[in-house]
Amino acid sequence: MKELQELLKELEPTHTSLVAVSKTHAPEEIMELYDKGQRDFGENRVQEMIEKYEQMPKDIRWHLIGHLQTNKVKYITSWVHLIHSVDSFKVLKEINKRAAQDNRVIDCLLQFKIAEEDTKYGFEPEEAYEMLRSEKFRNLKNIRITGVMGMATFTDDEAQVRREFRQLRNIFQHLKGNFFADQDSFREISMGMSDDYPIALEEGSTMVRIGSLLFGERAYG
Ligand SMILES: *Cc1c(COP(=O)(O)O)cnc(C)c1O
Repeated sequence: MKELQELLKELEPTHTSLVAVSKTHAPEEIMELYDKGQRDFGENRVQEMIEKYEQMPKDIRWHLIGHLQTNKVKYITSWVHLIHSVDSFKVLKEINKRAAQDNRVIDCLLQFKIAEEDTKYGFEPEEAYEMLRSEKFRNLKNIRITGVMGMATFTDDEAQVRREFRQLRNIFQHLKGNFFADQDSFREISMGMSDDYPIALEEGSTMVRIGSLLFGERAYG
């Protein structure tokens, strides 16, 4: 495990921000980091995030990092800070619709499938480019795409992890150049977890999502 302040020092040189992944951990554990100044927390299950949102301080910025089902979108749109896991036009359209009802513009990242494992969600690059070129995408006024997210393969092979992170950064740069050149808000590359964040930092991560290194091992999830 690592102290929050120590981890933040490692992120400082690259100005990378920290999402503390609090899934499976109780509010009391989360409050320990909150009391040390941490405000960005990530959850991968909607139900668990809602329960924590309801009981915890309202200045916490909640990040949804796990797969989002269309039918659950409506429960989070009035308060979620950033949705990292947009993986289809369908879910994006629903986020847009609910955000409009809540009078908000919601920041979202497009999740890309960079890992070898086929269990991981995410767009294929071509699929995302096609969506971004489409009229139906441009009609969405209550979402703002602020970057990309990805998870590397769970492996000891550092070279592979590095290749996958580099692939995500290349996708980011392609999107930046072709679709978001005039938008300063398009700037996030959410990559790096407890085991692989040092590589992610070297490959240009702007936001790491770290759980077990800060909170200890999880029993599940
Ligand atoms: C659980 C999770 C993390 C954090 O994983 P750790 O290995 O505990 O740091 C990061 N991103 C996603 C999408 C997760 O589900």
